Amino acid sequence: MKPISIAIDGPSGAGKSTLARSAAAKLGYLYVDTGAIYRTIGCYAHRKGIDPKDEPAVKAELPQIHVGLTYGEDGLQHMLLNGQDVTKEIRLPEISLCASAVSAHPSVRAFLLEMQRELARTHNVIMDGRDIGTVVLPDADVKVFLTASAEVRAKRRMLELEQRGTPEPFEKILKEIEERDWNDSHRAAAPLRQAADAVLLDTSELDFQESEAALLRIIRERTGL
Ligand code: C5P
Repeated sequence: MKPISIAIDGPSGAGKSTLARSAAAKLGYLYVDTGAIYRTIGCYAHRKGIDPKDEPAVKAELPQIHVGLTYGEDGLQHMLLNGQDVTKEIRLPEISLCASAVSAHPSVRAFLLEMQRELARTHNVIMDGRDIGTVVLPDADVKVFLTASAEVRAKRRMLELEQRGTPEPFEKILKEIEERDWNDSHRAAAPLRQAADAVLLDTSELDFQESEAALLRIIRERTGL
């Protein structure tokens, strides 16, 4: 039987990963965080001191980059960069901006496309990102466009960074979120946009439980699960 795929797209900080991970655990599906895959390339550029905006420079390095994705005993997705676990490092704010920059390059997107599709061919997945419903899995069984206002997203990110022990001021986080929103939706290659057949879920006024209930309702309605 063909595996079921659920695509969740939306801007950064909309709660995609937390919600998708939790919904995937409830449904027994594999959760695939595609942002982490772009972050791994961003991490490589950062470590090597390559300007992430310089496409020829980044493209020239791609043959040297091996991106590995494994699931640890904790059930969480771990990212490997040339065999080294970079799961923590890729969450640093400077890597977020590098990831956003490298993800604008068509060569980087093409390099990572097959890896994402293969996961969906072989597993029931909930995959989150920016172009899952529009480019990576255009035939996904369910597509959700998950969003929230920039201020709400910045507040959530601030709490998350505080909990991780790497606090950042609100204004700085908001500015970075707005910058990434702009980059993600204005790039020529696979810009962030809602697929015509995606259901819009705005969580600005919803807490986690309410958001998760709404997401599961959409998935169940569309798949009959
Ligand atoms: O979702 P997350 O914030 O971890 O993504 C990091 C960056 O990777 C984003 O700013 C976005 O530009 C990029 N990205 C993308 N396509 C995806 C997932 C993430 O371009 N499918």
